[in-house]
Amino acid sequence: MARYTYPFGKGRTDGGADMRNLLGGKGANLAEMSGLGLPVPPGFTISTEACVRYFQREGEYPEGLWEEITEHLAGLEGVLEAKLGDPENPLLVSVRSGARVSMPGMMDTVLNLGLNDDSARGLAARSGSDRFAYDSYRRFLTMFGDVVLGLEFRDFEMRLEALKDREGVRLDTEISVDGLRSLAEEFKGLIREKTGRDFPQVPIDQLKVAINAVFDSWNSERAGAYRRINRIPDDWGTAVNVQAMVFGNLGETSATGVAFTRDPSTGERKFYGEFLVNAQGEDVVAGIRTPEPIERLADIMPESYQQLEGIYQTLESHYRDMQDLEFTIQDGTLYMLQTRGGKRTATAAVRIAVDMVEEGLITKNEALLRLDAGQMEQLLHPQIDPDASLNVIAKGLGGSPGAAVGEVVFSTRQAQELAERGKVVILVRTETSPEDIGGMDASQAILTSRGGLTSHAAVVARGMGKCCVVGCEAISVDETGRKFSVDGVEVKEGDVITLNGSTGEVILGSTDLVEPELGGEFEKVLEWADDIRKLGVWANADTPNDARAAREKGAEGIGICRTEHMFFEGGRIRAVREMIIAETDEERRAALAKILPMQISDFEGIFGVMDGLPTVIRLLDPPLHEFLPKTDEDLKALAKDTQTTVEHIKAISEKHHEFNPMLGLRGCRLGLSHPEIYEMQAEAILTAACTVAKRGVTPVPEIMIPLVAEASELRVCREIVEKAGREVFEREGVEVGYKVGTMIELPRACIVADAVAEHADFFSFGTNDLTQTVYGLSRDDAGEFLPAYVERNYLSGDPFIAIDPEGVGAMVRMGVDLGRKTRPDLKIGICGEHGGEPSSVAFFYDAKLDYVSCSPYRVPIARLAAAQAQLRNPEGGVKDGKGRAGAN
Ligand code: PEP
Ligand code: MG
Repeated sequence: MARYTYPFGKGRTDGGADMRNLLGGKGANLAEMSGLGLPVPPGFTISTEACVRYFQREGEYPEGLWEEITEHLAGLEGVLEAKLGDPENPLLVSVRSGARVSMPGMMDTVLNLGLNDDSARGLAARSGSDRFAYDSYRRFLTMFGDVVLGLEFRDFEMRLEALKDREGVRLDTEISVDGLRSLAEEFKGLIREKTGRDFPQVPIDQLKVAINAVFDSWNSERAGAYRRINRIPDDWGTAVNVQAMVFGNLGETSATGVAFTRDPSTGERKFYGEFLVNAQGEDVVAGIRTPEPIERLADIMPESYQQLEGIYQTLESHYRDMQDLEFTIQDGTLYMLQTRGGKRTATAAVRIAVDMVEEGLITKNEALLRLDAGQMEQLLHPQIDPDASLNVIAKGLGGSPGAAVGEVVFSTRQAQELAERGKVVILVRTETSPEDIGGMDASQAILTSRGGLTSHAAVVARGMGKCCVVGCEAISVDETGRKFSVDGVEVKEGDVITLNGSTGEVILGSTDLVEPELGGEFEKVLEWADDIRKLGVWANADTPNDARAAREKGAEGIGICRTEHMFFEGGRIRAVREMIIAETDEERRAALAKILPMQISDFEGIFGVMDGLPTVIRLLDPPLHEFLPKTDEDLKALAKDTQTTVEHIKAISEKHHEFNPMLGLRGCRLGLSHPEIYEMQAEAILTAACTVAKRGVTPVPEIMIPLVAEASELRVCREIVEKAGREVFEREGVEVGYKVGTMIELPRACIVADAVAEHADFFSFGTNDLTQTVYGLSRDDAGEFLPAYVERNYLSGDPFIAIDPEGVGAMVRMGVDLGRKTRPDLKIGICGEHGGEPSSVAFFYDAKLDYVSCSPYRVPIARLAAAQAQLRNPEGGVKDGKGRAGAN
């Protein structure tokens, strides 16, 4: 028969860290810690498989599960010599969720389960503290009401606040014992009133419904939203951990805290964390009381602190990774409640990986694999311009680095609505709760007035890589009035602020942001990546400045220089327009002659920067009407310059009008309809190459023909380029080596890639157009419905961001196979937006491409992702893509 429960802690432990799929992260690590002999309160884990079966059977337990639970409960009672609900010596348990991967705050937990009127009295007698017993009872009633019975947490909170008002106290810990006792009665009354039933006094009944509630919380809206954002499958289910309670709220010798074995924000090697005396776990993360830094524990409870230090070192060397710990000190005795790989900022991730290699804990390859290449975008986040003068109005804690400028909003709904309308917003709250996940996702940054560095807002923002300032107690947030105020300054919804997520500064108004510099440690990681990776990494760059940025970030070539972008520079657009409205070949050639020297100087600049590195220049691609004037003013100016009439230009514009410009006269179709354009561009490229070569620069031009569907298109375009080449070389008296290749961005080109390859020195997949044409989905109009498709799981993600491996990817594989069938040495790259996205980089490596090309700022990410792809699949990839890609 299937087995669903696994005990841990004193007595017996079945399981360990390698069983996280079955036991969830929390359960697996509790078992691992007890295996290491660490002080873990005993309990048992109900597997994720039990949860999956429970859903399959629509809320029925699979056969044998309940019997196993009661058996393990009896075992627990035996070990602890206490009984659930016992009026003399009651056992209390926590019931906690725990999925395979941590989903902080997304699912539910019930603490202090087993309390009822009798056992509360027993707990009071046994602990000698009525305060503790009734404080625990009111907490349990609140959590049970909220999580299990689905009542409003606010209804409990309001009664608690009203009691504090009546008693004239500020903190929960200051409420009188009689007050706590009356609160328990009030809460039971509330439950009766709202549900029509009495609060269940039988503890085993409490346990069953609590387990069900935790299972069900896997399907809560916020957990679903979190899974979608983090691409976690819906069918994993959660494990449930039933564990003996230990109490951090047993008075001044008790405490509870959260700690990291290294600083999760900077990566510094130091014990880092927060704790609260006389409190339970949720008080620390909920951000209701602002906790104290962990160093203070050394003064208050030195023995526990020392023991904790020993444990953190044991755990770190055992797991060989930075750990995030939860602990409780009950009357001077330390207990470990959780350990897991700690979430960290990109800065911290890099520093920790590099330090751990230097400490001999992990290898360089392990360090590379530890990093989340996508998360490294955080390092590329903007910072506040150091020279900017700032109007700092408040200072909180730097919860997650980077800087952001945006309009303030005060609710998740507002954040989502405005973000949908294209506004950049900053979410401001007293504190965030897991319900705010959607609003945080829609915002550029988050600011809270309460909570510490481990509060929900800080943890979630760090995971999302968003700038966040927490615990900014100086500001007073009025969520209903949609404003916050500080020292007489009032900031209303829609006003602009700037946040500095590193220093915690809140700045009034908009501030200039600057691009970040890559830190020394990240450079080191990238060098390790470069040493092993075989896949080349190039950049998409249209100007000498872009090219310079690309080289600085480590690009080994330019994968696409979109020449049309040059057409808009300076005064060129005028000559381009003259060319378009020309009525005769002569007129057109005259206009092109004006553009030629400008293009030559463009290419000279780029070749100069790229000196010795391959530079792929794509000939003109977009439909001509994109260059024509749109406003009346521009129309009049052009008419005047070209001595024609506005009507004439309008007529030309009309002639160029296309119903679907993405599928009309563009790409090589344009070059074949107006060969003089490609002639001019080829002449410009090769003239520039000759000119710089004479100066001692080594140009490596690769001329790329866009939107080829038929081999004959490429053949003729190649002839145009080669003819221009012969003329240029003769005129210049030098010869420069160059290649002619094609973009593969239409399905037909993939299907007939063997024929296309007859005329190509290289292929470069244009995955933007290829995705558009494989899906039959306009890349400019997809925004209308694509997000809804992803939300409803019709698509696992946006195919314009991460390559669709089954459809578009299959086309890529076909193109590679057929192309190399004709030319085994065919050089192949990709220059669509996917070239800088880590999962796509891995796909292109596996598909045996020689290089990927992406925007310059993503080059470091692609370098890391390329090394990771290779480490994960050492047998995949081409032999020496990088070398082959660079070879001339
Ligand atoms: C592509 O289609 O992937 C590509 C790189 O070209 P563009 O985006 O300019 O169409
Ligand atoms: Mg394209």
